[in-house]
Amino acid sequence: MREDKLTLWFSKNARNFPWREEKTPYKVWVSEVMLQQTVAKVVIPYFERWMEMFPDINVLASAPLEKVIKVWEGLGFYSRARRLHSAAKQIVNLYEGRIPTEKHELEKIQGLGPYTVGAILSFAYQKRALAIDGNVIRVISRLYGISDDVTKAKTKRQIAEHVESMLPVKKPYIVMEALIELGALICRPKPDCKNCPLKLCCKALAEGDVEKYPIKPKREKIIDLKRDVLILECNGCFLVRKEEDQRKVMAGLYEFPYFDEFEMSLKKQVLSKFQTPPKKLKEGAKLFHSFTKYKAQLKPSHYICFDKPQILNYQWIEKKHLEKFSFSSGHKKILKTLL
Ligand code: SF4
Repeated sequence: MREDKLTLWFSKNARNFPWREEKTPYKVWVSEVMLQQTVAKVVIPYFERWMEMFPDINVLASAPLEKVIKVWEGLGFYSRARRLHSAAKQIVNLYEGRIPTEKHELEKIQGLGPYTVGAILSFAYQKRALAIDGNVIRVISRLYGISDDVTKAKTKRQIAEHVESMLPVKKPYIVMEALIELGALICRPKPDCKNCPLKLCCKALAEGDVEKYPIKPKREKIIDLKRDVLILECNGCFLVRKEEDQRKVMAGLYEFPYFDEFEMSLKKQVLSKFQTPPKKLKEGAKLFHSFTKYKAQLKPSHYICFDKPQILNYQWIEKKHLEKFSFSSGHKKILKTLL
């Protein structure tokens, strides 16, 4: 049976990860959130550091958001850290820090999506639950030759039904995790079908066109941005700004003053706040920074300033303290070259 083959394959090939050593609901939850947009290899040191800093949900809930963001710094998609933090607070308030065991309770916690709920129920509580991520969607769409758009609700339901039908009564969580692992290791975008335990029952392979699956709508166009970044230094202090708008991708993060191509008048406005015009020391190498649908080209220029005006929404921070603040990944690269 294909489920037996999958289980056997998983027992021989499952990778060792720190979050697989002891599958507590908290560790499963944190690891799954970290893994949502980041590859496992990158997640490992972040996960270990997180567990050192926030060993349980109570410690996480009582930590200041600033510290949570700092520990997350470099993983990107910071809304994940903010959601973990606010969900931890809710769990402490509503369930005294115990992560609920029932699906309907987990679903009520803000920031826990269907995949994370399924993962906690399946991997930590060993229940019969669906944890369907991009890997599972790819495997199932190929295995069953699903020729409809996998982002549509109807197709999602169809995929869920197929996964459900594959979960055995005994130890369903093993097959659930094995499907995810198969997608991560074998049924990758460029699949390794000859080493796949499901190759004899795979419809896409029989059709001879595996890479056409999963069917997805066309990707949103990437938007290129060109940004001038001002590194304004005065007596060992640097001008930075914290993004306070919680709706923005970079909410809670620090950045140097930057201006898009169409914002050059704003750049002039900031520079005009100085009594003596800052003197440009040098231009740094251009670097690139991608987030959501944007690819930003950052062009840093280092200026020496002769006064420190107070500018709305900005603050001057001493160089030796800069590392304590959480910077967006593009500006963190600039900070590194600066330090
Ligand atoms: S045979 Fe190939 S396409 Fe089919 S499930 Fe296995 S790896 Fe994926």
